[in-house]
Amino acid sequence: MNPNLIIFVAFAICPVFISSARNPNKFIDLTHAFNNQTMSWPGRKSSWYLETEGFTAGGFWVASKGFCTSEHTSTHIDAPYHFSKEGRKLHELPLEDLIDIPGVMIDIYDKVHKFKDGKLNVIENYALTQDDVIEWEEKNEEKDLEAAAAPTNNTVDDDKTIPLDVNLNFPSFDVSSARYLAVERQVLGVGVDALSIDPGNTKTFPSHRLFASRNIYMLEMVANLHALPPKGFNLWVVPFKIDFGTGAPTRVLARLNNKDKN
Ligand SMILES: [Zn+2]
Repeated sequence: MNPNLIIFVAFAICPVFISSARNPNKFIDLTHAFNNQTMSWPGRKSSWYLETEGFTAGGFWVASKGFCTSEHTSTHIDAPYHFSKEGRKLHELPLEDLIDIPGVMIDIYDKVHKFKDGKLNVIENYALTQDDVIEWEEKNEEKDLEAAAAPTNNTVDDDKTIPLDVNLNFPSFDVSSARYLAVERQVLGVGVDALSIDPGNTKTFPSHRLFASRNIYMLEMVANLHALPPKGFNLWVVPFKIDFGTGAPTRVLARLNNKDKN
């Protein structure tokens, strides 16, 4: 049998076979591993338990684990309902807004990290402004940001659990860039490799509220953004299907497009 085949058998209706050759495209996994060091909002922890692991009396192997976690742990999606009472809940997000969506990557590493007197100086709680986005658009000759925009600050390198009393400090969207992307560019979704769509020192979460009020989904703790070009990739955003969820751990993948398709 061809090892590249995927076979689905639908017993309730009739057998169905789906096959394809192995995908020739290059994919980048933008997802942090989910494990006992997984990062979450301060004070939230995940736990795992072993259901069974071992050889049965019949001599065959069975292993199964369970876990308990927040909807907002590790690489995850915020459904608009997270910050808007009328916003879409997780199960209401259209697949057409999540799968094979053109993306752009706005790298703000150099705005966050400045060298001063020979020393690396990290700007605290840098907020991406509307001017930053316009500057990126002009540089990249891109006026059609229909897709998820993903600024990067490269501050989230390792998974870890954060204590409740920590002073959060990380860059993210200023409300001016949030408004520009939501209103002028009407993006479907946005993402960051930091902990939140608002900078670490926010108390009022204005960017969350603005995106949510326009049914724009948000991706947080996205991984490996440094591996993306400014444009020329499509995103697959695949959340765990939680009914009425405020969010969910999410597999985020990017497919690099061929140059001649850009
Ligand atoms: Zn969240």
